[in-house]
Amino acid sequence: MSVVRVRFAPSPTGLLHVGGARTALFNYLFARACGGTYILRIEDTDKERSTEESVKDLLKSLEWLGLLWDEGPGKGGDLGPYFQTERFDLYNEHIDKLLEAGSAYPCFCTPEDLERERADALKNGQTPKYSGRCRDLSKQDIQKKIDSGITPSIRFKIPLDGEIVFEDLIHGETRFDSSLMGDFVIKRSNGYPTYNFTCVVDDALMKITHVLRGDDHLSNTPKQIMLYQALGFELPLFGHLSMILGEDGSRLSKRHGATSVEEFREKGYLPAALTNFLSLLGWSPPDRETSENPELLTMEEIISFFSLDRVSKTAAILNREKLDWMNGVYLRALSDEEIIELVPELKRSPFFKDDADMIHRYISATRDYYHFLGDVIARIDDFSLWVINKELLTPFKTSAHILLAENFLTLTAEKDSLSINDAGGLFKELSKRTELKGKDLYHPIRYMLSGKEEGPELIHFLTVLPLKEIRSRIQNSLEFLRES
Ligand code: GLU
Repeated sequence: MSVVRVRFAPSPTGLLHVGGARTALFNYLFARACGGTYILRIEDTDKERSTEESVKDLLKSLEWLGLLWDEGPGKGGDLGPYFQTERFDLYNEHIDKLLEAGSAYPCFCTPEDLERERADALKNGQTPKYSGRCRDLSKQDIQKKIDSGITPSIRFKIPLDGEIVFEDLIHGETRFDSSLMGDFVIKRSNGYPTYNFTCVVDDALMKITHVLRGDDHLSNTPKQIMLYQALGFELPLFGHLSMILGEDGSRLSKRHGATSVEEFREKGYLPAALTNFLSLLGWSPPDRETSENPELLTMEEIISFFSLDRVSKTAAILNREKLDWMNGVYLRALSDEEIIELVPELKRSPFFKDDADMIHRYISATRDYYHFLGDVIARIDDFSLWVINKELLTPFKTSAHILLAENFLTLTAEKDSLSINDAGGLFKELSKRTELKGKDLYHPIRYMLSGKEEGPELIHFLTVLPLKEIRSRIQNSLEFLRES
């Protein structure tokens, strides 16, 4: 199986959509699972929409997901170039071959001619297809039209009857009646070859063995098979991945929330969580005994379990709740160092003043609440923003609570910091000295330290904040409690 060669062939006309990312992932997984080669080919012939910027965005998203290609842009390979706009000589060479063999012909129909044909077919209740008007023009007619200054498009001459049958790796036997298809354009009058043609030339010359792509391309496959045959190329195997739908069963769109990899990255998802989640859109790991959730899989595990016979032909539903849950699990499992690296704001925050120890204390106190990367810094304000809350503290202007604050200060005077154990001992001692218990003891300390009625647990204030800051908040509160 070591000859397996697959490719991801995106048209970079915008951000990488989750559907594209899932196609890239399945190609990557299949290649890795069989020790094959995973190729990235950029189908950038749409010169208006395929900008340098969108190519950059695409590569960035693939790199971020960790779907690194073996051959392609920036990586090279023997069967490049890997940008279609650099392969026009190859396309023209093969178009000429088809013209010479009589398998293709110039078409002089204008867009108006074609529109008229279409409208007539629809009016007569027929499926529109090209009539073949230019299929049998004589050499002289062709020359006359060229001499009159018309630049033709080139159409592929499809067999007039017959059936295209192929065994799809996911859908099984698939049949198309070629008589229902009109001769299709392989090169436009502006000189640009069309997708079906470039795709075949590239897949054949790049020695692709398995074409795995979205099932929106299923109807292109018979056309491509006919081109393979006309060009004398060996056929690859085809596998068409099911669509990804929103939870309401409709085609995934903006109204379902983030749909591009870049949006997911910006929203604070982790690449490992996203690839794990995407791997389950249309594929499932084999049943096995595990104490863990069987769907939580590292990339290595996915590769070791991956096979096309576990890829489903029914549409996959993108369940955001599951993705969010998965992201939280992945995020909370990261080490402090990994979190610090992923969230540079931690080191930049004036609250931590680059105090590594304090950052670690903060992460241990808050990590249980992380679902998205943004949650990591979202809690800083709870600790850092403080103003004395006179309304909350007024009911505690009692001698017992003044004693409480005073003792808090004396008992912590000699210390540099408070550990969880220290804090436990401190509360015991405070209770003994003031005879305050339960909420009479804890609430006023929380109000003094946080200035708020609700927020992080009291113990977190004691262990995250520098002791100097803790003592200063208690000191300020004590002064207020003493005021008459
Ligand atoms: N450029 C095509 C697309 O992005 C490629 C389809 C294929 O994989 O053949 O949809």
